Amino acid sequence: MIATGGPGLSSNTDMHSDPKAIKALLVEIENLSMKLGRRAAFMEVCGTHTHAVAAAGLRRRLPENVRLVSGPGCPVCVTPIEYLDRAIALAALPDVTVCSFGDMLRVPSSSATLEEARADGHSIEIVYSPRDALQFAEKHPDRRVVFLAVGFETTVPTIAAALAEAETLGIKNFLILPGNKVMPPPMQALAGDPELRVEGFLLPGHVSVITGWETFLFLADEHGMSGAVVGFAPADVLRGIAELLRQLIEERHEVVNLYNRVVDARGNITARVFVDRFFEPTTVVWRGFGAIPGSGLRLRPEWRHRDASLIEVELPEPVEPSGCRCGDVLRGQIEPPECPLFAKSCTPDSAVGACMVSSEGACAAWYRHERFVIGSRQ
Ligand code: SF4
Repeated sequence: MIATGGPGLSSNTDMHSDPKAIKALLVEIENLSMKLGRRAAFMEVCGTHTHAVAAAGLRRRLPENVRLVSGPGCPVCVTPIEYLDRAIALAALPDVTVCSFGDMLRVPSSSATLEEARADGHSIEIVYSPRDALQFAEKHPDRRVVFLAVGFETTVPTIAAALAEAETLGIKNFLILPGNKVMPPPMQALAGDPELRVEGFLLPGHVSVITGWETFLFLADEHGMSGAVVGFAPADVLRGIAELLRQLIEERHEVVNLYNRVVDARGNITARVFVDRFFEPTTVVWRGFGAIPGSGLRLRPEWRHRDASLIEVELPEPVEPSGCRCGDVLRGQIEPPECPLFAKSCTPDSAVGACMVSSEGACAAWYRHERFVIGSRQ
């Protein structure tokens, strides 16, 4: 069954930041959970939700029988180790500078992090946008400048814009290492996984701004699962949990948009057309999931002269960090404290796996905000 709009409390008001509204929603969730009368688990798909949920302490304020499980929506976390290996190999070339967002620098590769490689003399720059990398390329025409293109639907338009500007200005030494991913295919994989332990999804608000919320209708249509597109304030998240509980009680399975102050049905078509000019779908590997058809973006043939993955480099045999269970965390199979390394050998200051690096990583979010209540909800 399919919903076509945003039922429930209006999300066009200030309620998402009102403490009274938050309290009322918690009471509503408590009542709904009692009415449901059994356990229920939902997945917050997006890493920004994971961070928001942890920072607001929402997990521990939910009723005992309602659990929130983190999903694969942290771009740094799902980037496979081979990508990091290639980035380091590129940065070792004498005429290449690798430019990256800062949160990629501490992610372990098979041998070292980008940060360690930089300390060893590899040419690696931190940038805050693809355009920063483009400007670096313009100032250093003697170097090939490779931007690490990691991120979901929300990030790709800015990369396409940098590529367009490079073409317009004739900046030939600006390249990207394609690593962008899109969310619907892994959601298909999750929803079709017989081992999935959740009954509904809090769907990513930022991604939906670009894709439109209707892109997730397949969850209800093809898998009979519930989904709610929500924003990032505590009341947004709680409103989504209440909606998912209501659907379970009423035995409905619908996808609804509760973030209609910024998300509409069809998304940002202009941005998608712009992205399509440069990128086409391809099969890529997600940490924890393996290869997922159509889940990545590669440069179209006419732009391959900007594709740094075509530069020949020697790569090591990929080696995942020993004992790290990031893959299980990203598929919602375990919660971070169930990893034996959590808060022992793996901490944000000494991360063993990618999920402990980015603030959007589930392990980092749990470590920073929830580790003192570990066990209270297991
Ligand atoms: S706690 Fe560390 S080692 Fe364990 S799954 Fe998370 S990132 Fe990997």
